[in-house]
Amino acid sequence: MSISSFVSTNPAHISEVIGRYQKSTAADIEDAVEAAVKAQSGWATIPAPERGEILLRAALLLEQQKEELATLMTREMGKILKETRGDVQTAIDVGKYIAGEGRRAEGETVPSALPNKFCMTIRQPVGIVGIITPWNFPMAIPAWKTFPALLAGNAVILKPASDTPLLSLKLAELLHKAGLPAGVLNVVTGPGGSLGDALVSHKQVNMISLTGSTEVGRRVAEICGRDLRRCALELGGKNAVIVLEDADLDLAVESVTWGAFGTSGQRCTATSRVIVQKSVQQAFTDRLAAAAGKLRVGDGLNPQTDMGPLVNTGRVKAIQEYAEIGKQEGARLVLGGSPLTGSDYREGAFYKPTIFTDVGPSMRIATEEVFGPFVSIVPVATYEEAIKVANSTQYGLSTAIFTESTRLTFRAMRDIESGLIYFNAPTTGAEIHLPFGGMKASGNGHRELGSSAVEEFSETKTIFVSYPTRK
Ligand code: NAD
Repeated sequence: MSISSFVSTNPAHISEVIGRYQKSTAADIEDAVEAAVKAQSGWATIPAPERGEILLRAALLLEQQKEELATLMTREMGKILKETRGDVQTAIDVGKYIAGEGRRAEGETVPSALPNKFCMTIRQPVGIVGIITPWNFPMAIPAWKTFPALLAGNAVILKPASDTPLLSLKLAELLHKAGLPAGVLNVVTGPGGSLGDALVSHKQVNMISLTGSTEVGRRVAEICGRDLRRCALELGGKNAVIVLEDADLDLAVESVTWGAFGTSGQRCTATSRVIVQKSVQQAFTDRLAAAAGKLRVGDGLNPQTDMGPLVNTGRVKAIQEYAEIGKQEGARLVLGGSPLTGSDYREGAFYKPTIFTDVGPSMRIATEEVFGPFVSIVPVATYEEAIKVANSTQYGLSTAIFTESTRLTFRAMRDIESGLIYFNAPTTGAEIHLPFGGMKASGNGHRELGSSAVEEFSETKTIFVSYPTRK
């Protein structure tokens, strides 16, 4: 039987094929689940510190190959080398951090309310975990889900996004080189819809962990809900930066430039709205436009490049549609608003850094996730109005606020509906030893990374041991 395949291409030079992958089917999901079920119980009996050693060895191998992997990633999805190095570094850091958790897979022991009784909790694997990942962090996200899932004693079926399967395959290769037994991690490449459905609805899969769009998250949650399958979702965002009139404007401009246009705006935590107090709107807008206008857009492999291409030409069309919508809605275009053309850009999926101002809080460009180098500036009169606008979308992933006021800093901690809140810093820049995740439609209440990363992929059993004296 012939196996059909698909390719990934370089978004800076669309004709350059980076890899050819198996276009897997539901039958391949069956094979992967069978292999995972066979391997899981053996893997779970290996002591957790030893499982951690394997992860540590994998992290060290990643470290050795960091530059090569970062270069491959830039070629496969476009972001600049500085960012792809950071993506691989995140995977290395998670590997080292989670490896140590092998010696810390703590339970609780607490006093019983009754005499001659002992109470404790122990953690056990969930079993078979299906992991589904997006294309924007091709190594970091597969790693930050896979490492803790494995450490907890689970077997994993990993389905990476079709634009970027290469780094997930490399991750699996290095884990196997580090000593991971066959069948414990299985990578299946192919289309999200059909493969995703087969994986998400498989009766022997005990948990799904998905990072992706809110639309796909809802579908996955519905399917998991029918079987009461555990389902951890990290989804979209419409992240706001609030700039109050007492803000350090230079710092705010620098942070928004990086938060909005880094990774060409294709980050779940990218700055997508700036909610600015009217008294500083003009000054902020002028300075942001000047900074964004200086960004050098091009091939991410060129060390001079500040912003790479979008992941594919389909995304260029999608961003262009939002630029048209913004104009129709009556927002004022300050910068960009069209694809980049000319000989340097002809072969790639390039879009200009784009800024709209005088955006109304309920316009589509202020409420929908654009997922590109595209910022909507929404003017407001007061702190209270800023918070109301910030909280007015369905999302709640990352919000930043620029102010020098201690009083407003503490009020904002309480008032902002968001899983991540930054003060005087961009909406991006999570750290792996702290929990990561969103509120509202940005997730379903789970948190990844941080000290509970392994717990996320574990079952907790509560144990009561009675030892009464014989009568
Ligand atoms: P996507 O939702 O299109 O795809 C994500 C993954 O789901 C891919 O592997 C895809 O093949 C798979 N998929 C598609 N349809 C499926 C289905 N019916 N069943 C199961 N799986 C299916 O997202 P994307 O375009 O790859 O990534 C961009 C989105 O991801 C944005 O919305 C972004 O905000 C979000 N994201 C969120 C986080 C976070 O941590 N909150 C991080 C990165 C990206």
